[in-house]
Amino acid sequence: MLIRSGSSWDRTVEVVVIGYGCGGAVAAVTASENGAEVIILEKQTRETYHNNTTMSGGIWITPPDMKSGLDYMAALCRVAGVPAASWTDRAVIRAWAEYAATSRSWVEARGGNMFENSSPGEHPQLPGGAFLSKMRFRGVGIGLGHFLDNQLKARGVSVLYETRATHLLTNLRGRVVGVEAQAGLDGQKKLRIRASKAVVLAPGGFEFDEQAKLNYLKAYPVYFTGSEAETGDGLKMALEVGAQLWHMNCVSARFIFKAPSIPVAFHIDFLGKGQLARAPGRSEADIPITSGHIVVDRDGKRFTDENVKGHALFYELPVFDTHRLLYPRIPSYLIFDRRRLENGPLPLNHSGAAGPTRIYKWSEDNSAELEQGWITVANTVRALARKIHVPADALERTVRTFNRYCQGGMDPEFGRRPEELIPLENPPYCAMVLWPGGPNTQGGPRRNSKGQILNADGNPIPGLYGCGELGSVYGMLYPGGGGNLTECFAFGRIVGENVGNSRS
Ligand SMILES: Cc1cc2nc3c(=O)[nH]c(=O)nc-3n(C[C@H](O)[C@H](O)[C@H](O)COP(=O)(O)OP(=O)(O)OC[C@H]3O[C@@H](n4cnc5c(N)ncnc54)[C@H](O)[C@@H]3O)c2cc1C
Repeated sequence: MLIRSGSSWDRTVEVVVIGYGCGGAVAAVTASENGAEVIILEKQTRETYHNNTTMSGGIWITPPDMKSGLDYMAALCRVAGVPAASWTDRAVIRAWAEYAATSRSWVEARGGNMFENSSPGEHPQLPGGAFLSKMRFRGVGIGLGHFLDNQLKARGVSVLYETRATHLLTNLRGRVVGVEAQAGLDGQKKLRIRASKAVVLAPGGFEFDEQAKLNYLKAYPVYFTGSEAETGDGLKMALEVGAQLWHMNCVSARFIFKAPSIPVAFHIDFLGKGQLARAPGRSEADIPITSGHIVVDRDGKRFTDENVKGHALFYELPVFDTHRLLYPRIPSYLIFDRRRLENGPLPLNHSGAAGPTRIYKWSEDNSAELEQGWITVANTVRALARKIHVPADALERTVRTFNRYCQGGMDPEFGRRPEELIPLENPPYCAMVLWPGGPNTQGGPRRNSKGQILNADGNPIPGLYGCGELGSVYGMLYPGGGGNLTECFAFGRIVGENVGNSRS
């Protein structure tokens, strides 16, 4: 939005950061360490504040060295193997690799309380993907939030809560020179804050903007497991000043459960390994699987090896049937039996709505959710099929066939891992509706290797920077659990180092 010359400002600082998540906080800390005067605008109240950062699992990845990080990201970004096409340009990948590889020492030097939880990348067959050093904050996302709070306090960076940025303000030359915001719980008070050096756009993604999801994502509906504050505000502000967008149809997603009465969706603990898998020093692979499950489409048929493929299964879901005019895999159904029902809470409870933020307290034995009708049960597979409106013959056949594969220890149709071949034979048989969804969107304004947001011609919009999941560096494929916080640490630091060089 163009600011008229002579307009008055309510306040002037050097750097204004929009959004107090991990991306915005790391940018603010780094800019402050580099001598800039910084404030953060945060639209939520201090008391009820929670975002994707604090709801996260607190994991982030550090490639063992810059070269393997570079190789892995470059391979992930190759579009369908076409060498000349890349979701993200080389200079940005290089910057990511350099800063991601040093993020562990950055956090350690500032007293981060964490432990190592390493594993292969999500696509271990790609160059650089066989091993990623993974760190996890103690206290998961909330622990990370405390770490960020302490960093800001130590540097005297203040957060203006209940201050929702609404417009980026530009001068006649198209430079971003400030932010217009609505302050106070009722949003009645309008504020104009001048940023004499730069504005950093870090307000998270568009997971709760239905119109943006309908337009940009490949399937619909898609539900997300993070904060309802992710309403795509940053997307609108970026578009208003002519930013170029990228990675809009890319998303870290799989299957989630969405209860009608709760806006935030739940990640599912498909294998029933629960909290055990997250303990320090415990490797998930060492924990035996004791219950079976399958996923079927609306026709009662399996279509995958049920591996949620970390953050990529989403791309297998938007197959559209042009005769029936529906997505046969949306929704799909999780089918399991008594063993999984009695094997701990169905959602993952180390992060998200059922995690430490306790947005919803899921019962330990799933009984409250059974009562609410979120889990459908029946004594036979046939009766279950009727209750969930899936063809009964087909579902019976599917379960029978799967149980036969379990006896033989091999899944010839989809090649499921033998340790997951546990038959469904202990009534009651259970079902949950699965929708496409996951933690977050990746798209937003395109940035360069300095974190500057680019216009339609590919030139930096003066005075405007971005970091965090809005316009993240990831294209269709995600490196592995921890990628987004890595991006926050990497581009937060990059932006923080560069904003000081920018002057209006
Ligand atoms: C359940 C869950 C688990 C996850 N686990 C992991 C994990 O373990 N590792 C990993 O790497 N990633 C994980 N992710 C993803 C990761 O947490 C996010 O991508 C990352 O935290 C995004 O950080 P951010 O700073 O970009 O945004 P956020 O942390 O979402 O912060 C954005 C902030 O901006 C504020 N805001 C929005 N609009 C405005 C506005 N107009 N004005 C002012 N403020 C505004 C919001 O209120 C919010 O506080 C997880 C996500 C979820 C949902």
